[in-house]
Amino acid sequence: MITVLKLGGTSVGSAEAILRSAKIIASGEGGRVAVVSAMSGVTNHLIQFIETEGAQADEAIGVLVNKHMEAAEELLSGKLLKNFTTEFNDRIKALRNVLNTKDLKEDPYFQDNISSQGERLSSLLLSYTLRSMGHESVALTSEEAGIHATGNPMFGTADLSKTSAALMMSVKPLVLKGVIPIITGFYGRNEEGKPLTFGRGGSDYSGAVVANGLNADCLEIWTDVDGFMSADPRIVPEAIVIDEMNFGEAAELAYLGAKVLHPRTIEPVRMKNIPLKVKNSFRPECKGTLIHHLRAPKNDMLRSVAMKADLSIITVGSSEIAYRPRMVARIIEKIADAGVVVYAISTSLSTVALLINSPDVKETLTHLNLLDQADIERIDVKSNMALICAVGDDLLRRCGVSAEIFSAVREADANVELISEGASDVSLNFVVPTDKAVGVVKVLHNKFVGG
Ligand code: ADP
Ligand code: ASP
Ligand code: MG
Repeated sequence: MITVLKLGGTSVGSAEAILRSAKIIASGEGGRVAVVSAMSGVTNHLIQFIETEGAQADEAIGVLVNKHMEAAEELLSGKLLKNFTTEFNDRIKALRNVLNTKDLKEDPYFQDNISSQGERLSSLLLSYTLRSMGHESVALTSEEAGIHATGNPMFGTADLSKTSAALMMSVKPLVLKGVIPIITGFYGRNEEGKPLTFGRGGSDYSGAVVANGLNADCLEIWTDVDGFMSADPRIVPEAIVIDEMNFGEAAELAYLGAKVLHPRTIEPVRMKNIPLKVKNSFRPECKGTLIHHLRAPKNDMLRSVAMKADLSIITVGSSEIAYRPRMVARIIEKIADAGVVVYAISTSLSTVALLINSPDVKETLTHLNLLDQADIERIDVKSNMALICAVGDDLLRRCGVSAEIFSAVREADANVELISEGASDVSLNFVVPTDKAVGVVKVLHNKFVGG
């Protein structure tokens, strides 16, 4: 039996948290493999460094050294502390080299390289902490473990079959010997051997990729809340923990804003029917949420509500577009060329409306403007939009559900700008202005969750 555990940033954010996480890793049955995020705040710090004109490498590195060494001195002593310090300094030296190599700065994967450095440091410290507790453990970078990735900078996708083959050689033999591998989350190595990140929060996805590659029996995502909840607890303090969900529900919510899981976490485990648990590393005694193939039906109308802000609606107008299917195809083709994610599409006789991330608007317009101008009457952009995702049992088969939901939306004084209903059988998604979104989530939660 193999369990893959993913520890998030807050779960390794201090000496105390690292110790607690190390105990969690070591305490279960069978083979244990951990995938780890950077200490909380570290990835932001690295990205800020890249984005700040004239930022001093020594200063940025100094902050990282202090943070990790302070924790190391609390957790380790004697020879272990000495060996840790040597290996840690090697990694810091490598980081300094990257920062000072001019060619690398021009590399399109430079930001991936820098922003993924925090995981190299936290994994080392967690592995040494396990050793100090008497366990055999090794820290493996994604390159050493063989997490293969493809795709554009900051937007990687794991190559599951290559990764699986590599993990069977690099990680499985360690597990069989009783060693606990601690693998860096957040990135893989691309075809050229360069670090390629999976997007912010990507360590959850790394955990799922490792679980898939090792044919694990379970993936545990250890974070700072008691489980997958009925809403983001920062927005709805009364949100409750959901004890059981199916893969489809969790995937839809994660895709549309529930930050507790990276949007792509579900697919690698769903493919192999590996159950996923979301647990709180600060309160391991809490049951958490089990996400798997099926779940027992419940009576409440909604199970969870999520929101995703910073979206825009692009509307392309063209006469009688509905009778010109090739025209619709050409619009979609341009969107695909721009490489942007489309969250919803809606059509009418003479318009196609697409919901995309606001930062993608510029690129999308550039591509749409390549369409034959004679075909296009207008292109409008509505920004500051947010998508609301409401997930519930048999939502779309229940008569009158939409009427109830939209009358609640009216109570939040929000105008519905676009509706995507029926595309997924577990969720009802619609768009409202961003400044109304929190109010809508609250109203829906208060009225329909747990009823
Ligand atoms: P980690 O560093 O462990 O990956 P994240 O900060 O990425 O943790 O994700 C956990 C956070 O996700 C929680 O603290 C919570 O604020 C937020 N969150 C958003 N939606 C939900 C939800 N539906 N259930 C639980 N947490 C949620
Ligand atoms: N450290 C990365 C981030 O902050 C990945 C992760 O924590 O999942 O985005
Ligand atoms: Mg996360």
